[in-house]
Amino acid sequence: AKSEGHNLYRFFEPDMDAMVLARRALEADLEAALPHREFELDFQPIMNIASGEVVGAEALMRWHSPTRGLVQPDDFIRVAEETGLVVPLGEWALRKACTTAARWPSGLRIAVNVSAMQIRSGAFARSVISALAYSGVAADRLELEITETVLMDESDMVLKALRQLRDLGVRIALDDFGTGYSSLGYLRRFPVDKIKIDRSFIRDIDKRDTAAIVRTIIGLGAQLGITVTAEGVETDAQLDFLRQEGCVEAQGYLIGAPSNAATMQRLLGSATPR
Ligand code: C2E
Ligand code: CA
Ligand code: CA
Ligand code: CA
Repeated sequence: AKSEGHNLYRFFEPDMDAMVLARRALEADLEAALPHREFELDFQPIMNIASGEVVGAEALMRWHSPTRGLVQPDDFIRVAEETGLVVPLGEWALRKACTTAARWPSGLRIAVNVSAMQIRSGAFARSVISALAYSGVAADRLELEITETVLMDESDMVLKALRQLRDLGVRIALDDFGTGYSSLGYLRRFPVDKIKIDRSFIRDIDKRDTAAIVRTIIGLGAQLGITVTAEGVETDAQLDFLRQEGCVEAQGYLIGAPSNAATMQRLLGSATPR
């Protein structure tokens, strides 16, 4: 039985050439996907917990590949970062998100995910300003969601670009808060407008220790004047806890799953304009 197992292992040993080829094929498909208009944005509503109203939506990228089917961002964003495609792709997303939000009631915000590589590319602030001008969306309606890898960057260029945009009224949200190495340090290094508590905390919110951490993050936000948004809210019990603790915003399947622009437009069109 032992030698059989050994043979099986050898049989299934990953073939490096095949892996390299698969990766190259993915890179080539990704490269072609932008000119072929295979990308789309879905939008997920964000709710103010106290009022129960939708206050905006987050744009989430989808790749409709003719050969691979629907590919989720977790399966292509990293490769797009490694090849540099994330720069033009991110620019496209910014424009698409802003032109979509231009048709929403004007009180509603649009949140767009931005990768570290995109901001490091140099022309980032300019491309944001151009997306706003092109769409006619006011700067204070746009929220850029960054992770701490962005703030980890040593170069001044990144902080300068973020500061320039913030001065124009663009909001900066720290995404996946709590999952990194020193999230608190980054709050001192760069003043953000919002923190988004990672959904792994919300999932375990019924555990005593996790509840204490979430409560602390909410209190921290209140003390610093930073909006706190809870991600991945799926149950009434989770929302009740967050409401009780004074969390400002919630996002998750309980409030609404990501949906295409037309569906989101219908949902937001019926929202009370402010
Ligand atoms: P994220 O920014 O943390 O986005 C939230 C993810 O959680 C989304 O996954 C969303 O569909 C999912 N989600 C929302 N509510 C719930 C819930 O109640 N339960 C659970 N289990 N999941 C929920 P998605 O759309 O697959 O995106 C994954 C990640 O890909 C995003 O995480 C973000 O880091 C990245 N991403 C998406 N769009 C873009 C983009 O345009 N640019 C960049 N650079 N990254 C993007
Ligand atoms: Ca996000
Ligand atoms: Ca997140
Ligand atoms: Ca995430």
